[in-house]
Amino acid sequence: APVVRFAPSPTGFLHVGSAHSALANWLVARQSGGRFLLRIEDTDASRNRPELIDNVLEMLDWLGLHWDDEPVHQSDRTEAHREAALGLADQGGAYWCDCTAEAVQARAKERGGPPGYDGHCRDRGLPRSDDTALRFRVPPGTTGWTDLVRGEVSFDNAALEDFVLLRSNGAPMFLLANALDDAHMGITHVIRGEDHVNGTPKYLMVLRALGLDEPTAFAHMPLLVNEGRKKLSKRRDDVSVADYRAQGLLPEAILNHLALLGWGPPDGVEVRPLAEIVELYDLREVTPSPAYFDRDKLLHINGDWIRSLAVDDFLARATPFLPPGEGPAAALTAMAPLVQERVKTLSEVPDMVDFLWMDEPPVDEAAWDKALVRGKAAREVLDASLDELGRLAAAAGGSWSASDVSDAVERVAATAGLVNAEGRPQMAKAQAPIRVATTGRSVGPPLWESLAVLGPERTLARLGAARE
Ligand code: GLU
Repeated sequence: APVVRFAPSPTGFLHVGSAHSALANWLVARQSGGRFLLRIEDTDASRNRPELIDNVLEMLDWLGLHWDDEPVHQSDRTEAHREAALGLADQGGAYWCDCTAEAVQARAKERGGPPGYDGHCRDRGLPRSDDTALRFRVPPGTTGWTDLVRGEVSFDNAALEDFVLLRSNGAPMFLLANALDDAHMGITHVIRGEDHVNGTPKYLMVLRALGLDEPTAFAHMPLLVNEGRKKLSKRRDDVSVADYRAQGLLPEAILNHLALLGWGPPDGVEVRPLAEIVELYDLREVTPSPAYFDRDKLLHINGDWIRSLAVDDFLARATPFLPPGEGPAAALTAMAPLVQERVKTLSEVPDMVDFLWMDEPPVDEAAWDKALVRGKAAREVLDASLDELGRLAAAAGGSWSASDVSDAVERVAATAGLVNAEGRPQMAKAQAPIRVATTGRSVGPPLWESLAVLGPERTLARLGAARE
């Protein structure tokens, strides 16, 4: 069975592009009874911060991408990485080099060729010292692999420079550690972002030179791009999974959306349980070209997922987005099934129900302006509503039903002259000023139910206040 791994470098919060790769690994493991391992690539001590590791673990856990076994820390194996590199040096597969970065650059400029190392120290037989880095001796030939996403990929070794394995201070380079750890962990499928394609021939040369087992397959996942077809950037785009969680996206929706980047189910049904995606996902069907991370589509999928939740589950997930206190909790409980139908994210929930816990409706200036000031019939509607709903309240006592309110507003529409050519009341037009007067907003849950929960007393007080 496949052994796969997600190998984040904790240099930032978990990025959606990394989550895309993590999901592909997880799907492959779960669809085949394989193992999904986690390796923290924390060798670059200057850039890693422990809280970033925490964020990565927390976000994977929140997404539901649970890993098997304890996470492996790459920094625990530094000595093994160094020993393997020194072994290569002993066999002549690597050599010591004292060229500074400036010297390498200056020679490249002089040559006028591509930048990069020119093999200057290949045959100088320099000893190991504090000033020498260890470079891999790239052999002639070609290096290739089967990529499940990209097909057969092959590089001409002549185009690859003799790359550094150990820095002069003895620190192993990323490529070396990455390849050795995969071999050590018995990884069969390396599934990762396309930014690693160019490093793969070096990775393979290292394993081959050391006579280590190499993965049976690679899959380099497509780059995620924004609407401008540009790589997602921290400055322009929301890129961290934590951002999406804070915006009220459900983990199910994020995973569902990520699965659809570069891939689609054969039957075209895109929004579906993860268990079905586990069954259907096929890395060989993933397209190599950049995939558009479409926020609107993500929100749409999230809305579908929110509607599919059991009400109790919806309540539990939405509650952290409310202000603390009993008022907000009671407001949401009273309105939950209706709110659930109308939001795309959990962060929209408070605005949908805050009219119930606030003493006065919240003021959305634009909505007031549009519905009450510029809406021509607004005055008549409010006058007639005070009449009709006042009568209803007097008859009904302390509470009224949504259908009673709706019937009353039909009469309001008639009184205010809001009827169409067939003489039918124009309910949407009648609703607008009433909604703004009572809830402060132009959109929200169904109005009659909202007013049933708000109750006669508060409804009339708000209509009266808006009328002034
Ligand atoms: N640590 C690398 C990264 O975060 C991933 C390496 C790999 O998956 O092989 O980009």
